[in-house]
Amino acid sequence: MENLRINSERLWDSIMQMGRIGATAGGGVGRVALSDLDRQARDLFVRWCEQADCTVRVDRMGSIFARRAGSDNARPPVLTGSHLDTQPLGGKFDGIYGVLAGLEIVRTLKDAGLQTKAPIDVVNWTDEEGVRFGSGTMASAVFAGRYNLDHGLTRADMDGNTMGAALEEIDYAGPEPVGGYPVAAFFEAHIEQGPILEAEGKAVGVVLGAQGQRCFKVTVDGEEGHAGTLPMVQRRDALVGAARMIDAVNAIAFKHQPHPVITVGALKVRPNSRNTIPGQVVFSIDSRHPANDLLADIADKMRRTCEHIATDAGLGLSFEQISHRNTIEFDERCSGDIRKMADRLGIAHMDIYSGAGHDACNLALCAPTGMVFVPCERGISHNEKENARPEDLAAGCDVLLHVILERAGTV
Ligand SMILES: [Zn+2]
Repeated sequence: MENLRINSERLWDSIMQMGRIGATAGGGVGRVALSDLDRQARDLFVRWCEQADCTVRVDRMGSIFARRAGSDNARPPVLTGSHLDTQPLGGKFDGIYGVLAGLEIVRTLKDAGLQTKAPIDVVNWTDEEGVRFGSGTMASAVFAGRYNLDHGLTRADMDGNTMGAALEEIDYAGPEPVGGYPVAAFFEAHIEQGPILEAEGKAVGVVLGAQGQRCFKVTVDGEEGHAGTLPMVQRRDALVGAARMIDAVNAIAFKHQPHPVITVGALKVRPNSRNTIPGQVVFSIDSRHPANDLLADIADKMRRTCEHIATDAGLGLSFEQISHRNTIEFDERCSGDIRKMADRLGIAHMDIYSGAGHDACNLALCAPTGMVFVPCERGISHNEKENARPEDLAAGCDVLLHVILERAGTV
């Protein structure tokens, strides 16, 4: 069993095949959650799992659980997986790797005729990216008990369509209750989405935790006016105010390097017309820091700075926190297992923190959880150019295989 390895070529081929669903002209994938393309990806995943002798269940948040039975199915399952949805201009690997690594593991066990004691569940969490409904990792959050089911199903997109209705539409509003049962452990394999492993020449990152995150919606209110007639001194230009605020919060990040990271990524200008002075601007702030108290300090600093700028310019301001996740520490035994198996397989590894949020951050609240990172080219992610090397993907999957085998126990 120590010599058991996954099939690297099959894993790569599956990732490439999945990447054709929603393939973009730039070589990436655009497969937003709960779209028809998401349905096609789910259907393919379900078919592959059934061919690998798994029994597929879908819960009420639409997450898919493919179970490879153990010899004692009363035992809590060992859970592994990630997400098949992508950014509108995303890559072939973010999330997909973790789901298909789980599938590759059950395929490998089937080929080897190996049975585990505990069952293994390969999971595809619904809507990790949160593109359409604005709240990423909601399905795993409901699973972990962070939110109730009703909260999850009633998340609405810009047009007022709910997640519940969208799940019905693609036929993935499953009957199973969401979570509420013991899980032996959850392991998620994922590309790093940062440049560290590649720079250090390590095939595997043992993820110790993920930094905290606070997101804000900032609304700046000024007054519309004619671009040709209103003198500069009489203007209350919301966009000029917003621009000063964006520059100021960016400067706050630079003042405290290497942490936090602060990003303003979305901006809505009303009326967004060439010759009307902007009357309102709504923009987003995403701030992340590995220390919870410092993340809170940064939030205060950003709020005070924006208030100051608004007052100076005679603008209205609403500075609203719309999401908050504390720093997550993963389970020490889980990360210890990942480290041990990488050593045993002779795979170069290092400890690392995750800059991004993942479904694993939710699962850590209800089950022992660990994450395996593999390098991606130049750390590029959320980008059509996202790329990873087959040998690194295989190394991460081999480590995951042995970690899961040990946790599930073999007959
Ligand atoms: Zn992801």
